[in-house]
Amino acid sequence: MDQKPATPKDASAIILLNQDQTKVLWAQRNPKIAFLGGFHAFPGGKTDAADALVAVRNRIDKDLEKFIVSGVRELFEEVGVLLVRNGEKLTKGQRASLHDDLISGRSTFREILDDWNLWIDAEDFFYTGHWTTPKFSPVRFKTRFFIAVCPLRQTPYAAITEMQNPEFIAPRDALKRWENAEVLIAPPVLISLQELAEFKLTASRHGDPELKKALKISVPPCREAVGEKLLEKSQKCDGDIDYIELNARVICFPLRTETLPPATHTNCFIVGKREFVVVDAASKEDAELEKLFELVDSFIERGFICREIIVSHLHRDHFGGETVLQNHLSAKYDLEVPISAHQITAESLAGKVEFQRFIADEEIIKLSDEAGVEFELKALHTPGHARGHLAFYDETRGFLLSSDNVVGAGTVVIAPPEGDMSDYLRSLERMKSLQNLRHLCGSHGAAVYDARGKIEDYIAHRLEREKQILETLEQGAKSPEEITEIVYQGLNPALFPLAVKSVEAHLAKIENDKNSVKITSL
Ligand SMILES: [Zn+2]
Repeated sequence: MDQKPATPKDASAIILLNQDQTKVLWAQRNPKIAFLGGFHAFPGGKTDAADALVAVRNRIDKDLEKFIVSGVRELFEEVGVLLVRNGEKLTKGQRASLHDDLISGRSTFREILDDWNLWIDAEDFFYTGHWTTPKFSPVRFKTRFFIAVCPLRQTPYAAITEMQNPEFIAPRDALKRWENAEVLIAPPVLISLQELAEFKLTASRHGDPELKKALKISVPPCREAVGEKLLEKSQKCDGDIDYIELNARVICFPLRTETLPPATHTNCFIVGKREFVVVDAASKEDAELEKLFELVDSFIERGFICREIIVSHLHRDHFGGETVLQNHLSAKYDLEVPISAHQITAESLAGKVEFQRFIADEEIIKLSDEAGVEFELKALHTPGHARGHLAFYDETRGFLLSSDNVVGAGTVVIAPPEGDMSDYLRSLERMKSLQNLRHLCGSHGAAVYDARGKIEDYIAHRLEREKQILETLEQGAKSPEEITEIVYQGLNPALFPLAVKSVEAHLAKIENDKNSVKITSL
């Protein structure tokens, strides 16, 4: 099933600095939003056709004009900051009333600017390039980023429910929260924070103004200095993102695989810092693997140690590159890196993959980082989707790698005999009750902010499906095919055979439950 990645939609975002340019504005996207819900982000959003109708003064690049407008409009909509010229005459109350006009649709953004003789000046924005959502996402944006300074006497606030708790934060503090997996952020936000933190460091290294004068060191304003660097970075790769650093210890590297639509990629994970493991180097395509190897090589060349290459379970979109990676590390660096999996997976893949080690349930994989601190990754044998399915948990940071049990995009198929609905629900319950659980990332799609909420949704969805199936049985439905036609209306026909399998898994669970009730009542 050859599925093409989604076409990116145009969007803009504003990297808003506070007046003295020491902090940057971020806010949390409402966890209920489907696309990157719960992530911390800069204000911004989709470009409207009407944005092209608003004039921008002192424009430098005609093509960027409408993106500046959408950035300014989104900034106003989301956090109430009106970054326009001649806006200082407006009171806080007037701005709030204009905001209300805009959100309720009483006025367009253009009308607001015209009526109040306000205008957007291109000189207030420094273009820092564009970034495109990685191909694995079912919704994608090509976002233009601009760096700007917050106007005097304006304080950002949560002006709509989609963006919560906007705050100016020192870039270093934001990075610390990300390193500890307290927050989730998308790659362009991470790159921007890193550059801002680096600039702050360079500026402070130059010390006090007197010394600066004596040494004749001139530090350009943050906006320009960081803007230039970011632009250079985005242009170098044309805004394409190969991998996502989920926190200081987990890198998600989506690789194109023969998976089930709407997913197109399988997430390969590089976990750990100085010592690391690679989970699901799954692609069978050389070009995809080459990109992954480039990153792994860069770690090896920095003296990091690849401890093992793990296969999470037996499905064809989870293995394929692990042996190529093992051979690559052996040929290039003379390293012997074992391939490992749960014993059941290893037995199922006999003849296809050669395993050197088995991973048991609750096994703790200890990986030491640069500071010699041990990082513990706990293996969880979580059958249901596949008998030998492994998930991995970093309990300290509450970060779960849920493999195919819970995913950010696509569907989890429970197909007997490999799949088992009773086991699957037990595995979901087990993952849900993990102590300290905060975020998760599955094998397909983006990370999930509210891990427990997502798992609860999965459980509720399966139980609802079971209820529907029981109803069709009461109404006289006989075969799994017949039940599937009733309960999976509007399904992509290509997925029909798998839905039938899912129904069979539910029927087996229903039968099981009946038997266990009989046993308990005896
Ligand atoms: Zn799978």
